[in-house]
Amino acid sequence: MSRSVLVTGGNRGIGLAIARAFAEAGDKVAITYRSGEPPAGFLAVKCDITDGEQVEQAYKEIEEKHGPVEVLVANAGVTRDQLLMRMSEEDFTSVLETNLTGTFRVVKRANRAMLRARKGRVVLISSVVGLMGGAGQANYAASKAGLVGFARSLARELGSRNITVNVVAPGFVDTDMTRVLTDEQRDNIVKQVPLARYAQPEEIASSVRFLASDEAAYITGAVIPVDGGLGMGH
Ligand code: NDP
Repeated sequence: MSRSVLVTGGNRGIGLAIARAFAEAGDKVAITYRSGEPPAGFLAVKCDITDGEQVEQAYKEIEEKHGPVEVLVANAGVTRDQLLMRMSEEDFTSVLETNLTGTFRVVKRANRAMLRARKGRVVLISSVVGLMGGAGQANYAASKAGLVGFARSLARELGSRNITVNVVAPGFVDTDMTRVLTDEQRDNIVKQVPLARYAQPEEIASSVRFLASDEAAYITGAVIPVDGGLGMGH
């Protein structure tokens, strides 16, 4: 069965690996991108999730070409690391605006058709940092922890309509986002990871695909760590 899948930020990194995983399984996959040339093989819609009008236009285009979104993966996210002393209000609000409010926008818009269809799958990409915290990442951690409360509220709200809402909390993954870290920072992180390495984006994608599958029909409100053991126990 080929489903209409949307992956925000599916043009690179973890989002691209997720988009590929669904496409390989035969789903119709739409991705959002903001600039440049999106990768081939998907319905690429230009959309900045901080702009409600762009989100609306993106959904209209996807609905026209693929039908209503049945699986939404809210993956788009940013970091703007800074110690609290030096963190401006803009550093804080812009990260919240993308990671949390942007996710609210895309989930709310998808919910309409999912309610009508009386089925749907929503997967939010949080982070191990949302639960452990991270020095210099108060804005990012707050946004990623916020996603957990958001998802669990929706799991309660939408469960009776056969819509599941789950969270995947990756550890450190080899993408552009972590390539900005110095070798020393990277070595320090890897020392704390029981599996002693970063994840590949595909290793996050497989859990996302599972949560969107029939096999995961009875899982909702869950936070699935895919972090090499880094956050064990939280
Ligand atoms: P990248 O920096 O490689 O990619 C980020 C993606 O988000 C890009 O596709 C980017 O689009 C998109 N994006 C950012 N802001 C917006 C916006 N306002 N509107 C639409 N799209 C936007 O990051 P990763 O692939 O590493 O991260 C993907 C997700 O996984 C993020 O939510 C991140 O927080 C989370 N994560 C990452 C970890 C890691 O170690 N890498 C660990 C834990 C969680 P564009 O190309 O247009 O900029």
